[in-house]
Amino acid sequence: SVDIVNVHKSFGENEILKGIDMQVAQGEVVCLLGPSGSGKSTLLRCVDGLVMPDKGHVSVGGTLIGRKVHGGKLHDLSGREAAGQRERIGMVFQQFNLFPHLDVRENLVLGPRAHRLGAKAELEEKAHALLGKVGLSSRAKAYPAQLSGGQQQRVAIARALMMEPDLMLFDEPTSALDPELVGEVLDTMRSLAQDGMTMIVVTHEMAFARQVADRVVFMADGHIVEDAAPALFFDSPETERARAFLRLV
Ligand code: ATP
Ligand code: MG
Repeated sequence: SVDIVNVHKSFGENEILKGIDMQVAQGEVVCLLGPSGSGKSTLLRCVDGLVMPDKGHVSVGGTLIGRKVHGGKLHDLSGREAAGQRERIGMVFQQFNLFPHLDVRENLVLGPRAHRLGAKAELEEKAHALLGKVGLSSRAKAYPAQLSGGQQQRVAIARALMMEPDLMLFDEPTSALDPELVGEVLDTMRSLAQDGMTMIVVTHEMAFARQVADRVVFMADGHIVEDAAPALFFDSPETERARAFLRLV
């Protein structure tokens, strides 16, 4: 589960997150919507520990992100400790970020190898299984440049799953794709959701949000403005702010 408690974050003079409270239960899928600049990516980065809140905190599975209590006081984690924490959280961005000089299988195995999460043969078997899951069994030897954007993004998802994350964060995973490739990535995410993965998904794909999300959280002006079941949010948004947003998408 994810607990976001009273999170504030400013960049310079701009307060981007003005006290965000949000819970995600285990196995729940939350779609995070909101206008450009409303702080969606910043909030995901707070969950992943890449950005440290100025005030408030995030915990994932009961573990405080980016900080630890020591001698009755809160301390920031060291870079290494924070990186260790991030292993359990899968993040998929708009850009696929695969290693271009490694083939698909090597891309999957590299992270877990570096963290000594298993023997080579075992990890390769796991990579094979996950490639099957994202529909790319036959492309293990391909290099990223030989794949379509949709295939690369599915590899990126499989790579994140290699670390056996407790939580998957998606930041506009289909925004950089040609329209005809969006569906295959959304299908992969839908199947992950059906397997019970806990997911926070920033997306502009309203049909996906409506069909797959357990809840829709709508952010604007640094606040959570609505937090509701998708049917409620899309069919009868409570605020003018959400209605205005939905008219534009
Ligand atoms: P979009 O839909 O365009 O991706 P978003 O909701 O993800 O928008 P953020 O990327 O979280 O919004 O950015 C919110 C605001 O914070 C923006 O005004 C952005 O310029 C600013 N911002 C984000 N990261 C930084 C940073 N590291 N330094 C300074 N300003 C930042
Ligand atoms: Mg963003």
